Amino acid sequence: MNAQRSLFVTTALPYANGPFHVGHIMEYIQADIWVRFQRMQGHRVHFVCADDAHGAPIMLKAHAEGLTPEALVANIAAGRKQYLDGFGIDFNHWHSTHSPENTALSQDIFRRLNAGGLIERKPVEQFYDPVKGMFLADRYIKGTCPKCHAKEQYGDACEVCGAVYAPIELIDPYSTLSGAAPIRKSSDHYFFRLSDPRCTAFLRSWLDKSERLQPQVANKAREWLSGTDEQKLGDWDISRDAPYFGIRIPDIAEEKYFYVWLDAPVGYLASLKNYFDRGKARAQGETRSFEEFLSAPNTEQVHFIGKDIIYFHTLFWPAMLHFAGTPYKVPDHVYVHGFITVSGEKMSKSRGTGISPLRYLELGLNPEWLRYYIAAKLNANVEDVDFNPDDFVARVNSDLVGKYVNIVSRVAGFLSKRFDGQLAPQGDAAGEALLQTLRAAREELASAYEAREFGKVVREVMRLADLTNQYADSARPWDLAKDPARADELHRACSTLTRAFEVLTRYLAPILPKLAAQAADILNVDFSRWEQATPLTQIKPYSHLTTRVDPKQMDALFALPTAADQGSGSAVKPKTKETPTMSTSPTDDVATAPTYASITDFQKLDLRIARITAASTVDGSDKLLKLTLDLGNETRTVFSGIQSAYQPEQLVGRLTVMIANLAPRKMRFGISEGMVLAASDDGPGVFLLSPDTGALPGMRVE
Ligand SMILES: [Zn+2]
Repeated sequence: MNAQRSLFVTTALPYANGPFHVGHIMEYIQADIWVRFQRMQGHRVHFVCADDAHGAPIMLKAHAEGLTPEALVANIAAGRKQYLDGFGIDFNHWHSTHSPENTALSQDIFRRLNAGGLIERKPVEQFYDPVKGMFLADRYIKGTCPKCHAKEQYGDACEVCGAVYAPIELIDPYSTLSGAAPIRKSSDHYFFRLSDPRCTAFLRSWLDKSERLQPQVANKAREWLSGTDEQKLGDWDISRDAPYFGIRIPDIAEEKYFYVWLDAPVGYLASLKNYFDRGKARAQGETRSFEEFLSAPNTEQVHFIGKDIIYFHTLFWPAMLHFAGTPYKVPDHVYVHGFITVSGEKMSKSRGTGISPLRYLELGLNPEWLRYYIAAKLNANVEDVDFNPDDFVARVNSDLVGKYVNIVSRVAGFLSKRFDGQLAPQGDAAGEALLQTLRAAREELASAYEAREFGKVVREVMRLADLTNQYADSARPWDLAKDPARADELHRACSTLTRAFEVLTRYLAPILPKLAAQAADILNVDFSRWEQATPLTQIKPYSHLTTRVDPKQMDALFALPTAADQGSGSAVKPKTKETPTMSTSPTDDVATAPTYASITDFQKLDLRIARITAASTVDGSDKLLKLTLDLGNETRTVFSGIQSAYQPEQLVGRLTVMIANLAPRKMRFGISEGMVLAASDDGPGVFLLSPDTGALPGMRVE
């Protein structure tokens, strides 16, 4: 075995203003598979994460809900465990950036940077909301574009003409928090001097160590570093004025706070420190202190992140760590993944195309199916992963169950009933050759895991499963079982197939930990190491390892939500392009600050009276009705999740209200060309909207 590696692995810290979405779960599954593989190699891994608890969005959301930010974060944190346990994500520790460790470490790093001459204090003129009594981030300001005069543009860029500007250039600006006209006000801010030649020289050399980063990530970071004259890497504003939910800037009397992005990555270290201080690292066999471990030359610091936060992790974070000095050290690897899309579309709560991980668990879908599917789609590149329901069903049913689990499920019974569960010591020549081929793939598969080429792992294991099934088809144990004279042949064939299953299960154990644990119990072997420790000689009676997916479960997962399910504000939520948090994918539900819908926001929705001219149930769905809607001058097809409340024939001839300009959505049954509006709450019942008498199909609702 290679020398034992000492690994410190993190995933991006989820912003603590809402529950996990499937983008988080994908990242955790990716990192968890890699960590489990490293542990199987005998390496020591400390795998930690934490809630990213600070910043204006959390402060404002808490205020809107009548909570303290601490209480809001605690509520969110309390819901985390069910997801992590549910999907078999094996973090060693989970902490929070709102913690004494993070305060101490963030302030320590700041003081060291300050002592090194890399912190500068200078006045900044910014918009200030006189009603809310706070400075406004760009995302809380709207106004008229100074270039093209388009109205209702955000404070940083125009969505109509693409111009980029400072918020103070907006014409007729207003605060989206209070509606008030903001005033210009000056305040001193602290800057991390990234433009200092020491910083740029360091970052250049850091980025040139090619093994640290994927090539496309290093190239992107180099572009930012060199920049054009307009967009050169500038000094980084790391402070915010009160009121702010964050960590105080130390050693000054004024109430100023670190910008959330200063203390968020420090949260990796804060979680690790809390884990060490509680003795949990020692329980893993780690005898060093936090400082000794962190600064040790053989410690590898590895971050898994999404492509939306490359900027922070490849420029700001390594520069902070490098210039803070020992015990801090720069990351050894930053592994970047793409986003998750659903049937080719970007996830968006407002369009109802996201997959809810909690709903996935509640519906009783096997978490290991999702782990397997995501693994099959992942590679080492920064590519988006597409979740396609039909592909999911095919891969789970044909590959995972049909090719792999069936290897053992078809023969284990013969071993138990005819041979007391004892395996024959040796197979026939073809069987021994098969096992040799399977075992020979071990090094190649280990390299693929190490390189995060999980799709390659799955493809190779399925190729080996195909070879195994070919052997089964020629040995035909089910025919041998009919002839008592051929019991020895039957014994050898079943033993070979069970051993083949054992080899493949070891290869898949990082991806399918629960299935591997069940299989270990049946086979009396140990899958905690990549090398087989004890040979397989005796099995227990087989109990089923996993079932096939019922396509109906996919329908339930993707049941089209009604407009009421989505919340009335979902179509007009503020965008989140400023990337204020470590969010790992572009959902619309990151920022939930209270906000006003302007009349132009409302006018973006084309609401029309529609007559339901036909309604029918949908084959394969117990949630959806297929509606044909007459809009006066055109006809639309809409799939609506109202089957629980209405018989199709009740609806024909009725008038209702539809959103006519919703992006068409591809479903398993066809394309849904809009959405009908219905009311509901937590109780039972869904209530379709109707207009007053006299309204006609096609009329606009305004
Ligand atoms: Zn413009």
